[in-house]
Amino acid sequence: MNINTTIESATSDQQLALDQQLDLALVEARTLYLEKRPGSVSAFNESISFMPGGNTRTVLFHGPAPLRIVSGSGCQITDADGFQYVNFLGEYTAGLFGHNHPVIRRAIDKALDQGISLSGHNVDEMRLSRLMCERFPSIELVRFTNSGTEANLLAISIARHATGRGKVMVFQGGYHGGLLYFKNGNMAINAPFDYVLGEYNNLESVREMIRAHASDLACVLIEPMQGSGGCIPASVEFLGMIREESRKSGAILIFDEVMTSRLSAGGLQQVHNIHPDLTTLGKYLGGGMSFGAFGGNKDIMELFDPTRENAIPHAGTFNNNSLTMAAGATAMEEVLTNQVLDELNARGEQLRLDLNSLSARYDSCFQFIGIGSLLGLHTTCAGIQNVKDLEKEDDRIMELVFLNMLERGYYIVRRGFISLMLTIGNDEIVGFKKAFEDVLTSRGDLFKNTG
Ligand SMILES: *Cc1c(COP(=O)(O)O)cnc(C)c1O
Repeated sequence: MNINTTIESATSDQQLALDQQLDLALVEARTLYLEKRPGSVSAFNESISFMPGGNTRTVLFHGPAPLRIVSGSGCQITDADGFQYVNFLGEYTAGLFGHNHPVIRRAIDKALDQGISLSGHNVDEMRLSRLMCERFPSIELVRFTNSGTEANLLAISIARHATGRGKVMVFQGGYHGGLLYFKNGNMAINAPFDYVLGEYNNLESVREMIRAHASDLACVLIEPMQGSGGCIPASVEFLGMIREESRKSGAILIFDEVMTSRLSAGGLQQVHNIHPDLTTLGKYLGGGMSFGAFGGNKDIMELFDPTRENAIPHAGTFNNNSLTMAAGATAMEEVLTNQVLDELNARGEQLRLDLNSLSARYDSCFQFIGIGSLLGLHTTCAGIQNVKDLEKEDDRIMELVFLNMLERGYYIVRRGFISLMLTIGNDEIVGFKKAFEDVLTSRGDLFKNTG
């Protein structure tokens, strides 16, 4: 046997041993999880009779049986078995204000006192629409929806109508809602538009694609940082190219800032100084109530003006529901000042740096990417430009980290997403870092960077 094959078989033996250890560690973690949580387990077993897989919101599902949350306060949530966790999932960014912000609570109470289902234009929709237009310079006029999904469906549809064209450019790894999901290409139940699927951050190929489809391209829909895709930021050059090429081809540029709008007072478009024609919004901007909005260029948005001849109708029973309008407007006016938002994002940026130093110190396979208060944990040390770079990630490692962090009282998204809430203070940040370090050290070689 020559030396090379000896070395090779030694490393593959080592790899095999690590592989088995990983499987074993996962079985242990799942068993421990189940043993300690009879409440969550029985709720799960009961609900599978009434909801497919006991679930009505896929992103919250995780094995071996999803956590059942019964209450929350500040930045803490409590599960059906009485365990408390610091909520680093932050309702996928919608929970920015924590679980019971007193100022927002008062606004909702006041709206309740004034009566619900008012059946007419109300005052708070006026407040909130003005705040949206002031906050996001590219938004001249805005309309409300019930969700970010709806906002994107409407933005795409009005773009197709306004241009008289059919094609919709989106990106691999993109997420624009339950019917607009492109993690693994075009999902089976996506809204049936004629999609052109671009590669995120691939400047040359996307430029060519836009040019090739120029005559029939209605819009380009893009997240300036892919959130669900793993917190992958688009480069400024990439976004700038798309701005320029879509303008040249007459396609409408839509920024989906449902998540990223919280990365500065005016969203990522303000940070990069790149202005789309339309912007879609959602999540936290309703102060924690269900929310969506789309807005932008006056000429496009005015197509909905009911005083115009041939106006496009856009109905929606709860578009201006008084709880969302009141909570959103008050949250923007009284809670989410520029300074508060900047501080939160700075805290997130520091946390990301600290977690990356920890990961490097223990020579681990982890890397935290993202911007500001939104962090994506990945189990690869290689550079990440788009979802193709994530194909080699080992999902077992992610599950192990998720379960291990839960046991230490920290709740993150199962696939490694972290979204900071305003109520997460310094103690919780320090605690989170300690817990992560503890997970790193307690698992020996399992998390070693193998290149
Ligand atoms: C959450 C999200 C949506 C969908 O919003 P919903 O209110 O959940 O329908 C759309 N786009 C992005 C980028 C999101 O993160």
